[in-house]
Amino acid sequence: MSAALRTQVGIVGSGPSGLLLAQLLHLAGVDSVVLERRSRDYVLGRIRAGVLEQTTAEILRRARVGARMDREGLVHRGVELCFGERTQRIDFSPFGASVTVYGQTELTRDLMEARDALGGKSIYEAEDVAIEGVTGGAARLRWRKDGEQHLLDCDFVAGCDGFHGVSRRSIPAAELRTHERVYPFGWLGVLADVPPVSHELIYSSHERGFALCSMRSATRSRCYVQCALDDDLREWSDERFWDELRTRLPAEAAAKLQAGPTIEKSIAPLRSFVAEPLRYGRLFLAGDAAHIVPPTGAKGLNLAARDVDQLATALIAHYRDGRDELLNVYSDAALRRIWRAERFSAWMTSVLHRFPGRTSFDRAMQIAELDYLVGSAAARAAFVESYAGTLAVTVGAAT
Ligand SMILES: Cc1cc2nc3c(=O)[nH]c(=O)nc-3n(C[C@H](O)[C@H](O)[C@H](O)COP(=O)(O)OP(=O)(O)OC[C@H]3O[C@@H](n4cnc5c(N)ncnc54)[C@H](O)[C@@H]3O)c2cc1C
Repeated sequence: MSAALRTQVGIVGSGPSGLLLAQLLHLAGVDSVVLERRSRDYVLGRIRAGVLEQTTAEILRRARVGARMDREGLVHRGVELCFGERTQRIDFSPFGASVTVYGQTELTRDLMEARDALGGKSIYEAEDVAIEGVTGGAARLRWRKDGEQHLLDCDFVAGCDGFHGVSRRSIPAAELRTHERVYPFGWLGVLADVPPVSHELIYSSHERGFALCSMRSATRSRCYVQCALDDDLREWSDERFWDELRTRLPAEAAAKLQAGPTIEKSIAPLRSFVAEPLRYGRLFLAGDAAHIVPPTGAKGLNLAARDVDQLATALIAHYRDGRDELLNVYSDAALRRIWRAERFSAWMTSVLHRFPGRTSFDRAMQIAELDYLVGSAAARAAFVESYAGTLAVTVGAAT
């Protein structure tokens, strides 16, 4: 066994949560070590989220990792909603709101490069990470790498290791409540080097099921169709995917759809999940380790960024000022924000998808919801507030 390393904050997971937390702490002079189960290339290769709220973009700029996002990200000031025979744009401009389309893969690369530039320590391919001592005077992380056992002593542990990570599982079941809804369908997503159908996202609620046309750049499309959870990817040829997507779009958008070979194709389940509390002694949960939203509202990555911003602020107050109030309210304050995003994501999922056993009344209710949304200035304002993340939230504060 090698000699124990020592740091202030041990961070488990090198996804966006772990890397952004490490960056914010480093800029404030708080030392951390990031432990990641996978290889660096594997983490960089994952295709996931792409829509950043305004507040997320601001956090990234403050973390000094926003330069490429500002150069290459696509700023959107609206989305298109299609339902029945209608296509309606929701304009964010009257509310002074926007979102930035910038792939999670690119953001992860920026965060890794920033950490390298600052000389921060990240350990990849750390196997069997175990979290110990969080209810005592100091915490310890233990892992295996290259056949050897390693130890890291730290004041706090940030559990940023996603839904399947070890951090949440390290909290005794009696101390944790979980709330979960698993949706009876999935999203079949593809990435392809074809120009997007539209310069903004198109959300379609079609009789055959939901569809979404998104993008990663002016030449790369990211598109999804609702599918059955037990669908076999091998039965979804590229041709079948594009045909199905075309069917679920209004005629004008369908005519603009360019099919092409897909670079990536996968089926993701949809889930709503919240664990509470987010603190167990010296262990704090953040990002997907603490909660999951269905991707319909594009909230997962944004929630993660806000969690770690809040956690970083609290940890910095501990080290800089010897104040623990923000650490003490982290869980309650974050959960209020998280439940609001859960509400919005579950609502968007419920109005846009085809649920098994749906009746004509259920469908009419969906259309009425969408009709109200596009027809009412108050409903549009509420939608934009949640979608673009402009609800007044003071960074690091208890709201
Ligand atoms: C297929 C898919 C598609 C998605 N699409 C969208 C989208 O369109 N919009 C959106 O907003 N969100 C989307 N999300 C959600 C978004 O990607 C997540 O909310 C975001 O990645 C959360 O970041 P995180 O760092 O908290 O967790 P993760 O990105 O999951 O990172 C956790 C890290 O911890 C590591 N880890 C796990 N276990 C251990 C362990 N035991 N020890 C050490 N390290 C460990 C993992 O390898 C990983 O690198 C999607 C998620 C998935 C899975």
